[in-house]
Amino acid sequence: MGSLFAFKKSPSQKAAVAFLCALCAFAFTACRAQKAPSARTFISFDTVCTINAYDAGTDALYDACEKRLNELEQLFSAHISTSDVCRVNNAAGVHPVPVSSEVMTVLLTAREYAEKSCGAFDPTIGPLVTLWGIGTGDERIPSEDEIAAARALVNWQHLILDEEAGTAFLEKAGMALDLGGIAKGYAADEIVRLLKEAGVASALVDLGGNVYVIGSRPADSGKSGVGSRSSGTAESASLEAWRVGIKNPFKPEEGAGLRVDVSDTSVVTSGNYERYFEKDGIRYHHIIDPKTGRPAESGLVSCTIIDRSSLIADVLSTTVFVMGRENGFDLLEKEGKEGVCISSDGTVGVTNDMQTQVKTLSDDLRR
Ligand code: ADP
Ligand code: MG
Repeated sequence: MGSLFAFKKSPSQKAAVAFLCALCAFAFTACRAQKAPSARTFISFDTVCTINAYDAGTDALYDACEKRLNELEQLFSAHISTSDVCRVNNAAGVHPVPVSSEVMTVLLTAREYAEKSCGAFDPTIGPLVTLWGIGTGDERIPSEDEIAAARALVNWQHLILDEEAGTAFLEKAGMALDLGGIAKGYAADEIVRLLKEAGVASALVDLGGNVYVIGSRPADSGKSGVGSRSSGTAESASLEAWRVGIKNPFKPEEGAGLRVDVSDTSVVTSGNYERYFEKDGIRYHHIIDPKTGRPAESGLVSCTIIDRSSLIADVLSTTVFVMGRENGFDLLEKEGKEGVCISSDGTVGVTNDMQTQVKTLSDDLRR
């Protein structure tokens, strides 16, 4: 039986993956010459995105999804000078900047979770992200002074949001927003909304590991190699869940270490194997603890959140990764949210309601 392995890809793998995905999609499409296109794979949000609406997929629908993602990237990117995020950053310490309602929605959620996590998640993490440069090819270990100077500019409490005026303001010059830990979640929800509006009942959306599965596994999903289903109809109570693979953080190249069986929900993972560099045997990854100004060392190597809102799953996956197992799970319990975490000793922690849906695929993830 095929399973859905929706893994995160490192930037260096992206081009190759995109090419392979395109080839697979082409091969699959060619076999089913008269039918709808099987899937669409493309780069957006600096990552490999795949949308598969199976038999409901059409070129027009995939075009609309791709266009929407590219529009959102234009608003949220910290690297596109005309984006709302960059315009707010450029006016830091000077004046408030009007932002789109979509960016405002994400900023409000980011600020909410910054507060709930006592700053473990911080949308003003920009100066530290830039300083470390992880994933840019220009990575380096900064000096203590540089870290202290950047840390002094990271504080969500100096992000002023005026909902009525529709503006965002960073109070100190040098502050900078970075919504890399939350924006793809919003984007995934938007794509799901588009697909559902178009009447799609069963689909897979994968924005570089930020996954959403709509409905249950479709009858022919096994053929495309991303999922499969037992017999049954869409109305049947015995419909099978999607099987979403979570990469083994100790051997990411080998594939899934865990599997989550779910329907109609988002599954989002933050891990230390995604974007990193190593120096003298130490791994420096891309999720920064605002309190230390360094890559988070919470004892977790991977954190997955399962929620019908991909926005919430995305913000919480980063947040819990920084907070660690104990504090992170306390927050999940308080919020009534579900997740799976893998610790550096290989132990797997699962919130109560997910116990039966999470399968460990190896006795010892480290071996
Ligand atoms: P990915 O971007 O790989 O999907 P995440 O959702 O965990 O993974 O987001 C990591 C990104 O979030 C980083 O690349 C950076 O842009 C941003 N980030 C890093 N540390 C924090 C933090 N403590 N709070 C908020 N955002 C962060
Ligand atoms: Mg995240």
